[in-house]
Amino acid sequence: MGSTYQMTLVEQYELAENVLGFRFSLPDTSFQFISGQFISLQIPWQQQIIKRSYSIASSPLLAQKQGLLEMSVALVEGGRASQYLTNMQPGDQLEMMGPYGRLILPEQLPSRIVLVGTGTGIAPYRAMIPELKQLAKQDCQIDIVMGVRTPSHLFYHQDFSELAAEFTNVHYWVCFSRQEVSDSIFDSEHLHLNNHYTSKKSYVQTLLSELDLNPENTIVFLCGNPAMIDAAAVLLQNEKGFPIKQVRREKYVLSSS
Ligand SMILES: Cc1cc2nc3c(=O)[nH]c(=O)nc-3n(C[C@H](O)[C@H](O)[C@H](O)COP(=O)(O)OP(=O)(O)OC[C@H]3O[C@@H](n4cnc5c(N)ncnc54)[C@H](O)[C@@H]3O)c2cc1C
Repeated sequence: MGSTYQMTLVEQYELAENVLGFRFSLPDTSFQFISGQFISLQIPWQQQIIKRSYSIASSPLLAQKQGLLEMSVALVEGGRASQYLTNMQPGDQLEMMGPYGRLILPEQLPSRIVLVGTGTGIAPYRAMIPELKQLAKQDCQIDIVMGVRTPSHLFYHQDFSELAAEFTNVHYWVCFSRQEVSDSIFDSEHLHLNNHYTSKKSYVQTLLSELDLNPENTIVFLCGNPAMIDAAAVLLQNEKGFPIKQVRREKYVLSSS
């Protein structure tokens, strides 16, 4: 069971089409988490509290050193937490509980880690960036696979591009499900950064199918859309021979309340 903490909104900003970034301050320095985990926001809604889970998109170092926590929220039309969070102003307070979740890097290093996220499902991997740098220095091969509809839905692109630019054993893939992508799109939207990514028109599952993955030395993380996670997990088991324990999953299932 996680504890309850009070957070204060520092700022809210647009990350991509229909995706807002949130930065909260944590007056309580006792909040500790492992990168990859999520929190449960306690949203006041019509005299009740509804609970909604969100992955932490910033590293534990930012929380320890500056008392800050970041999240990315894909706005759902008519969604209650989506509306509440959109209307929050800097200085407003919000309760959260946590941390929760087991989508965390293993203590025993595999020689390859594949991190797959659709939409805001990429957030936990952004929180892992300082650790991923350490793993890359220890020769671990890292593939970050981001799935979004179109370039306007892409975010945290610069963070992952920079990581891939720093290490030859880190590969960053972007899969656009709805749009053929040319480099000029990246240039025009200032997203282009030294070509340290590979963009494709495909679903993340299609890319996984194309990658040469050895289940004996590889762990795959899947985060985000539940349908993607189910399809990718079946593919990894049936096509690539992965035992299910080497496929770590965090499904962004919708709340029933
Ligand atoms: C472990 C975990 C981590 C999560 N992390 C994140 C995160 O980092 N970022 C993030 O944005 N979300 C995340 N989610 C999803 C998040 O918790 C909420 O479910 C989401 O923000 C919608 O909440 P809401 O209150 O705005 O919508 P609700 O009021 O719950 O839903 C309103 C209506 O919209 C429908 N609906 C809800 N979501 C969708 C959707 N995606 N597509 C189509 N219809 C929908 C519902 O069926 C309902 O009819 C996570 C979920 C889990 C379980």
